[in-house]
Amino acid sequence: MSDAYQAFTATPIGKLLVKNLGLPAPVKLDRWTEGAPLVDGTVVLGGTGRLVDPVRTALDSLEIPNVAETVEGQKYKGLVFDATGCRTPADLVALQQFFTPKLRSLEPCARVVVLGGVPELLEGDERIAQRALEGFTRSLGKEIGKGATVQLVYVADGAEQALDSTLAFYLSPKSAYVSGQVVRIGATGTTKAKPVADQDKPLDGKVAVVTGASRGIGEQIARVLHRDGATVLGIDVPQAASELLEVTSSIGGESLTLDITNDDAPKRIAQHVKDTFGGIDVIVHNAGITRDKKLANMGEDRWESVIAVNLEAPDKITRELLDQGLIKDNGRVIGVSSMAGIAGNLGQTNYAASKAGVIGLIDSLAKSLKKGITINAVAPGFIATKMTDAMPFASREVGQRMNAMSQAGQPVDVAEAVAWYASPGSTAVNGNVVRVCGQMMLGA
Ligand code: NAD
Repeated sequence: MSDAYQAFTATPIGKLLVKNLGLPAPVKLDRWTEGAPLVDGTVVLGGTGRLVDPVRTALDSLEIPNVAETVEGQKYKGLVFDATGCRTPADLVALQQFFTPKLRSLEPCARVVVLGGVPELLEGDERIAQRALEGFTRSLGKEIGKGATVQLVYVADGAEQALDSTLAFYLSPKSAYVSGQVVRIGATGTTKAKPVADQDKPLDGKVAVVTGASRGIGEQIARVLHRDGATVLGIDVPQAASELLEVTSSIGGESLTLDITNDDAPKRIAQHVKDTFGGIDVIVHNAGITRDKKLANMGEDRWESVIAVNLEAPDKITRELLDQGLIKDNGRVIGVSSMAGIAGNLGQTNYAASKAGVIGLIDSLAKSLKKGITINAVAPGFIATKMTDAMPFASREVGQRMNAMSQAGQPVDVAEAVAWYASPGSTAVNGNVVRVCGQMMLGA
């Protein structure tokens, strides 16, 4: 989808106006292409906690060039700081000491990752200091600009060796539109990660189901999971049958047309999966609808249809697949929430309730899943699709500028986050909701 304002800011007159009027200046974000290195540059690794050595080992195994010290005049693509050594509020000055001298040595679209201990599992001063990291990373994400992203990764004791897939995602251009996020590794479920045999095809031999796969974000999720080696079963409504077939046949996948809100849909999906593949490794509940109206004007049909598609169907389908044992060991359940479900949105009480409910679904299942099965969600912000293209100009402009990147995200940005969760290396990533929103100014 074209962004006329972003194109204008790249012209000489546009550059002049941006500079003199202090207008938002969206930069072209780096996005990963097949065959490219994960990190095109060098990462500086600092800190004194328990994670420095495991992170260095992870970076080496991912072939990400890393150094412990900066060199005068050199530029860096990433900064990783292990803050688990900050045990009191006074220790937090280590953040200033590490970051301040390095921030002018960053290349465009740089990546910053701060690692800490899970606050809820700590006590006293250490808990306070680790919780403080959230304010630090979220603010730094709003400061650096030039397409940089900043993340906080809380790592539970015992999960030190389970960081590869998360570092690969957060340090690479795959996380182009993800910033200011906080994830917990090993805090719920297992603290271990399965080794990934082939980093280029982590999903080789796996089967992934994607609902709403005929267009938009779902289509990209299907394409990216296929790129990573999965066989994809795309599901969509009968009216979208030909578009769905076009997508799935172009990636050597399978298609199934049904309305996921039909009473028999969970059983039909389960039967199809059983007959065709025997079981599945990944299910992505992407299908979703909006039926906006202020609550004062909302009819019951608008309320019910949105809850049925966005929340009840993912819940029922997941439970049916789990009950029938069709989600294989180390399987992945991935929900698609929304910024509206976190921050709320005018005219979207029904939609925001359904998308906050998706977060509830993650919370309710994360602790009970067994055998390395995980459940996580993405919460997209403003993503350029046919849906957002149809918005009135003013709302679209506001929507796409009110984030740290000053631009809309692309469907592929959501798909890359889904692929990170889906990786067999992400077994310790459980119970998380990550926003793909360019660090939107609204919401937490
Ligand atoms: P889209 O409308 O382009 O695609 C949704 C797909 O779901 C369509 O192919 C549609 O046919 C399918 N679908 C709808 N109801 C269905 C049903 N009952 N059974 C089977 N399939 C059904 O939307 P999108 O923008 O690609 O959004 C994908 C997901 O991301 C949705 O869950 C949406 O709520 C969420 N999301 C999108 C944005 C955004 O900015 N585009 C932001 C936040 C969240």
